[in-house]
Amino acid sequence: VISVWVPLGYNRRAVSLQSIAYQVMAEYDGRIPESIDELLKLKGVGRYTAGAIACFAYRKQVATVDTNIRRVLQRIFLGLEHSEPKMNDVQALALAEQVLPAGEAYNWNQALMDLGATLCTSSNPQCVRCPLQENCCAFAEMSQHSLFPSGMVLRQLRKVAEKEANYQAKNQAQPFTSTNRYFRGRIVDFLRTLPASERIPLADLGRQIKPTFCDDDLPWLQKLVDGLVKDGLLDCAGDGVRLP
Ligand code: SF4
Repeated sequence: VISVWVPLGYNRRAVSLQSIAYQVMAEYDGRIPESIDELLKLKGVGRYTAGAIACFAYRKQVATVDTNIRRVLQRIFLGLEHSEPKMNDVQALALAEQVLPAGEAYNWNQALMDLGATLCTSSNPQCVRCPLQENCCAFAEMSQHSLFPSGMVLRQLRKVAEKEANYQAKNQAQPFTSTNRYFRGRIVDFLRTLPASERIPLADLGRQIKPTFCDDDLPWLQKLVDGLVKDGLLDCAGDGVRLP
């Protein structure tokens, strides 16, 4: 499945989807289950995916929390992300369930996702255009900030801006082609070119994916390989590695 998945990226998804397909055929007669409890039994399906399938595919009255929904709920009901109280995953889901309008889960969850993707974005919320500003705790905090620019909110906003700037500087300092993520992709891409059952010794693989590869790089390569094996993307044995 990893061979035919190219060029879609996120190879782990291919492995998970295949595994789920087998499980659904074997245990659910070929039909993806509808309830959250049964969906969570599928390998690789977490609470967000289970909620999204139950809500969007089966129109169930359930909450689901992705990054956008979490941010929007936090801002509307609790305030800016760096305010107290901060939400953990369990609290975010509990809040999402608490505010879910009866019979409207399908529209509500999509609206929250859309709001988070368009107006209530992570770094540049468009509050002046937002229909929820009158009911939004974060907007109230930000309004306070414009009246009292030396207040707590300003310090929080500065902290967010600095964090964002540091994150961007760090990312710019390290080119993608030197990251482990890049080399993980190189390993899988190279193994796709080999005949199905052929293995390649680790050192030979290293020379294929990194022109400057030397013996000192072996522990680094082994670590990458271990990670790929753990994700189900690689088969590693004494005589080398290959795709599963
Ligand atoms: S008012 Fe601003 S912070 Fe509040 S939900 Fe709308 S865009 Fe987000």
